[in-house]
Amino acid sequence: MTLPETRLIEKIKKMAAGTDSRKRLITGIGDDTAVLKRPGGNLLFAADMLMDGTHFNLQGTEPELIGRKALAVNLSDIAAMAGIPLAVTVSLAIPDNIPDDIPLRIMSGLSDLAKEYEVTVCGGDTNIWKNPLVIDVAVIGEATGRGPVLRGGAQPGDHIFVTGPLGLSILGRHLRFCPRLSEAQYLHKNYLLTSMIDISDGLAKDLRHVLEMSGGGATLNRESIPLNRNPDGSECSIDQALADGEDFELCFTVARDAAEILKRDTGYPGGPLHEIGVITPERGLRFADGQEITISGYEHGVR
Ligand SMILES: [Mg+2]
Repeated sequence: MTLPETRLIEKIKKMAAGTDSRKRLITGIGDDTAVLKRPGGNLLFAADMLMDGTHFNLQGTEPELIGRKALAVNLSDIAAMAGIPLAVTVSLAIPDNIPDDIPLRIMSGLSDLAKEYEVTVCGGDTNIWKNPLVIDVAVIGEATGRGPVLRGGAQPGDHIFVTGPLGLSILGRHLRFCPRLSEAQYLHKNYLLTSMIDISDGLAKDLRHVLEMSGGGATLNRESIPLNRNPDGSECSIDQALADGEDFELCFTVARDAAEILKRDTGYPGGPLHEIGVITPERGLRFADGQEITISGYEHGVR
């Protein structure tokens, strides 16, 4: 296939838009999860598929960590909506030539994380085939407080935060990260978050998703972008922090007054928050010195 993933999604989105016969869809394709209208509170619904060779390497990875990741990426999408995850289905396409304990170890890692985050594994599917392992998790959750936090509400003047350091997830954190659910729920309860996204494709690309939905642009302070460290203790480059995918930290925006209060908030349950920039009326993504940020980030299927 030669069509970039973003173009494919655009085409699928058009087809999907015509299928909402019962008029229950509040937010469809294009946010971290779908939002469906339901009496007694809205439902969040999302799915993520991981493939051997792309999102993990079965050869050389503990199967438990693969299962853990398959659930964690879905929980991260619920976190990006400031929701509560309720239940997941797990579907496995299992190569016919792997030892029997592999799928069970995958499920064991997934189940441990499910218990930790109080999510029910309620169903799914298994198939055996002659191709690499694929694991697909679908999650339902419920919205909290002021309703789900969407990507489209950032306003010029809003301050941009991230929940932790970025870059180099490939060194192992992409398998072991902790979805920022309690952090998101705390922030949503105590502050009016104007937009939020989880950083799956790299800060530059994911922030552009927010800007596409919200309108406007953003200016980032180079020195404020938190950088993960290499094994030798040196910090990764700004480019790596902007481009590397699978950090699964949250990027969110709040109005300036709220930002000032948040920076002094001692009750926040997560690690240090990092204020990295501001939303601008002018389109585009740039550093405070005016230099344009051209990094595109991780595009699935064309790397
Ligand atoms: Mg997401």
